[in-house]
Amino acid sequence: MSTTAADLALKTDLFIDGQFVPSETGKRFATVNPATGETLAEVAEAGQADLDRAVAGARKAFESGPWAAMKPRQRGRILTRAAELLLSRADAFGRVETLDNGKPIFESAKIDMPAAAECLAYFGESADKLYGDTHPGRTDAFLMTIREPVGVVGAITPWNFPLLQAMWKIAPALALGNAVVLKPASVTPLTALMFGELLAEAGLPPGAFQVVPGPGPVVGKAMAEHPGIDKISFTGETETGKAILRAAAGTVKRVSMELGGKSPNIVFADADLDAAAKGAINAIFYGKGELCSAGSRLLVQESIHDALMEKVVERAKKMTPGDPLDPKTRLGALVSEKQRDTVAGYVAKGESEGARLVAGGKRAAVNGKGAFFEATVFDGVRPEMTIAREEIFGPVLATLTFQDENDAVSIGNSTIYGLAAAVWSRDVKKAIRAAKALKAGTVWINAYNLYDPGLPFGGYKESGFGRERGHYALEEYSQVKSIWVDLT
Ligand code: NAD
Repeated sequence: MSTTAADLALKTDLFIDGQFVPSETGKRFATVNPATGETLAEVAEAGQADLDRAVAGARKAFESGPWAAMKPRQRGRILTRAAELLLSRADAFGRVETLDNGKPIFESAKIDMPAAAECLAYFGESADKLYGDTHPGRTDAFLMTIREPVGVVGAITPWNFPLLQAMWKIAPALALGNAVVLKPASVTPLTALMFGELLAEAGLPPGAFQVVPGPGPVVGKAMAEHPGIDKISFTGETETGKAILRAAAGTVKRVSMELGGKSPNIVFADADLDAAAKGAINAIFYGKGELCSAGSRLLVQESIHDALMEKVVERAKKMTPGDPLDPKTRLGALVSEKQRDTVAGYVAKGESEGARLVAGGKRAAVNGKGAFFEATVFDGVRPEMTIAREEIFGPVLATLTFQDENDAVSIGNSTIYGLAAAVWSRDVKKAIRAAKALKAGTVWINAYNLYDPGLPFGGYKESGFGRERGHYALEEYSQVKSIWVDLT
């Protein structure tokens, strides 16, 4: 099985104006397969001159030429074609995503890539469906609004769902006629480059989509400051988001921020405990727990604590790390050795602060190699402990207990984050009351980690602002113009 850039026929230069071009810096950086420690590819590293070139090309595409002149439905057809191409190549894209990120091939090829294709198709169909309105306030004038693209969008994305997270930005932005400059995370740049080529094949004119891999504090920061970029759409850590907000202030850029989370997964005593246990496992171990929406805090009503934990621990112990390329694997390698060290540090902290380790807790290897970590469950966690407050971004579950509904909501809301939450209960009224009281952008009831391209996703509190997907995403990548027509 091939695992090098040459074997995989990967293109590793920058993708600018419809072509792969070397960076002017001449620098390259390695991207590593975290399941083996082997270098997968040496990718061109963009510098300021490369970014300037990408932005100039994007501006040109946005302002003149075929992309600027294209009818919305034509744009939509390109996205629909790209969706079909991506779906037909889900295995090839999924394989590269797995090699680069360490996630199970089951997730990347069977879930992430089809979801990315579905997102493209959804926004392809939306390209001519962002309506303005008319205002009936006057008899002496005809008043209306139209929505126009914001211009050049700078997308800065994380490593956990490299192509899918990017797609939530690329698809709505392109649907409306914006041009996009994408900076993927440096540990997982490969599928973004593949996707540039796919979009060109689908008919996207040169310049409308550019990919400039490079270090966040250099290329990402320069994007946030760049006068040729009209909007930054960022997904990543809350602290990085704050730095980008500061950098974007100089040019009064529009920004949207999808940031971190510490989401509560709340199980009431009247829940279906088998379903809740299964949901708790999916909530924290899907994507190796490297998930912004991970249900990393399991909040259990005291009266069912023992019964639920028996089921959760039994399931967790069966989640053994495996070769990410094996279709049966459900727990892959963490994205890097560095991330694994961070996770191990949090586990040590949990133990030293008095939480009880009831499953996992150790580094693991598959075939003697790789940045694997066991599926880990802590019990007896208190809200003030570090592992209940900070985003670990790994397969580590912190279990806390609560007494009643008020207690559950108050513990649930006791973090700086507000990205997602879930409630498990057979009492519809209680579940909806809790869902309303939880300060989170998404609340699942009797489910976890389910997504639809039409349902918006984004944060409350320090989990960010702005919404991805659905009609709200179209608003994020457009601006309103008011038009007054004199009738006198
Ligand atoms: P990160 O913040 O380290 O990096 C994200 C991106 O920002 C990368 O492309 C990085 O190169 C770039 N970057 C880094 N420093 C920068 C700077 N100073 N200026 C501009 N860009 C910079 O995040 P990560 O480690 O790649 O991803 C994990 C984080 O992302 C977690 O906190 C997770 O919760 C969050 N996340 C959020 C969502 C969401 O939708 N809310 C989704 C996925 C991940």
